[in-house]
Amino acid sequence: MTLVLVALLALVAPLAAAQETDPALLARARAILERAPLIDTHNDLPSMLIERKDGDLAGLDLGVVQPQLCADIPRLREGGVGAQYWSVYTDSANMRTNRSLHEALREFDVVLRLLRSRPELELARTADDIERIHRSGRIASLIGVEGGHMIEGSLAVLRIFHELGARYLTLTHWDTVEWADSATDRNEHEGLTEFGESVVREANRIGMFVDLSHVSAETMRDALRVSRAPVIFSHSNARAIDPHPRNVPDDVLQLLPKNGGVVHVNFIKEFVSPADPEWQARKKAALEDLHARLDDEKAVEAGIAEWEKANPHPGGTIGQVADHIDHIRKVAGIDHVGIGADFYDAGGTSMVPGLKDVSRYPYLFAELLRRGYTDDDLLKIAGRNHLRAMRQMEQAALALAGAPEAQRSAGAARVQIRTDHGDIEVEVDTARAPATAANFLRYVDGGFYDGGRFHRTVRLSNQSGQAVKIEVIQAGANPAREREGFPPIALERTGTTGLRHLDGVVSMARDGPDTATSDFFICIGDQPSLDQGGLRNPDGQGFAAFGRVVSGMDVVRAIQASPADGQHLTPPVTIRSVRRHP
Ligand SMILES: [Zn+2]
Repeated sequence: MTLVLVALLALVAPLAAAQETDPALLARARAILERAPLIDTHNDLPSMLIERKDGDLAGLDLGVVQPQLCADIPRLREGGVGAQYWSVYTDSANMRTNRSLHEALREFDVVLRLLRSRPELELARTADDIERIHRSGRIASLIGVEGGHMIEGSLAVLRIFHELGARYLTLTHWDTVEWADSATDRNEHEGLTEFGESVVREANRIGMFVDLSHVSAETMRDALRVSRAPVIFSHSNARAIDPHPRNVPDDVLQLLPKNGGVVHVNFIKEFVSPADPEWQARKKAALEDLHARLDDEKAVEAGIAEWEKANPHPGGTIGQVADHIDHIRKVAGIDHVGIGADFYDAGGTSMVPGLKDVSRYPYLFAELLRRGYTDDDLLKIAGRNHLRAMRQMEQAALALAGAPEAQRSAGAARVQIRTDHGDIEVEVDTARAPATAANFLRYVDGGFYDGGRFHRTVRLSNQSGQAVKIEVIQAGANPAREREGFPPIALERTGTTGLRHLDGVVSMARDGPDTATSDFFICIGDQPSLDQGGLRNPDGQGFAAFGRVVSGMDVVRAIQASPADGQHLTPPVTIRSVRRHP
């Protein structure tokens, strides 16, 4: 082989790779997308318009290709896009300065002005709108709000977002919010709090999709349990293919046929490539190494940029995106897959090569045809699944039209604890320690405590499974416990007042010495004050107070006074049931 030939081959090779899609399949894919319509459920053009242009649309012509943006009319047309959800997104860091709502309104404003400025785009509020606008040759435009932080804890804001055209709310973005856990942040609520559940119910009532991209698996399960309408994942992939925490686990995929929901697959390298987690781990190690050696944050940034140059991300392929679709099809079924590419920057460097911008959808559909998907399968994935789910969501809202508007919880729930010593009535203040209160009520509703035992003191061994301990905490030394070899429970307050009792307070603790047995404690004492946040005992357990005894203090005192039976501290009290008052 001559050198010239080798050089020629080197030039031709990348071209050959880009052209491996069979032109006949590509043509067939394009024809199918024309009919579909192709509905993409996530594009971040609004944020780009704010970041790059400060929201100023003057002088911007989206009628010509704008390579510095993640969408424009010609490339959407080339990609066969019939409907696009434009994302209202603000960084969840805005939570810390209470600017989320303000920033969200800027995003709505830019979307609505964008739609008014382009005759090719029209706002769609319903599934019927999508089909009508698509038939008219325009691109149906919808709005999705990416991050529950933007409602700032207010169902009124949720309703106003709906009035402005929003048709989905992603419950969290990268950070856990006060009422829902994110996949990529601390697990604070074990899913949704009670208020989080009311967000789901209110979205059902007003006719808005609950979007479960970005949320933790437990939040997904909670939302699927509560929702009376199909949910969506506006831009999520399968965890079995790429074990990124933000992807959807199989047990959740299995819940979709019953719920009717749809997972819309994205094209982001990080969430597509099975090799991503290994690369992330190496990057993390490199970062730690840089932090250990360098003080200057700028130098660390430069260092990690160098590292990324030398260690490029494994990327991902069109075939791997199809692998995610294959998997979701296998586990959830063909009726539960859609597309939500999540184009969010220019140049497509964050996307899978081959799917770098909004013109490239037909290449993915050609790959699915190559794998034996039928025309009908493609029509479903492209948009019919979403339309079907949207109609179900609209129907659910109609059915709930007479339901009362949910208000932010005023904060009270009554719970009756029936014991063999008598009944105790507890008022749960859900606004106080909302996470633990929500957990408590969830366990109450699930019958978790029924048939459980009151322990007079903490027992630290041999508790397993679902057994729950309800303690009556006493201040000061506890002879029975000491006999077991444990130090006295000396509850202390870490605040300014000198409270030493948990009396009359219902609280729950986690992550204490009993974590391995996954027990929760309810501590009931006889002091009717809730101002005892920050109570701790020397075992390091935190007790979050969220309720008070409102009747049955005589029962509590009787339990406190009853003798423990020697070294094993057999519970003197049996709980028959714990029920929420209707
Ligand atoms: Zn996202």
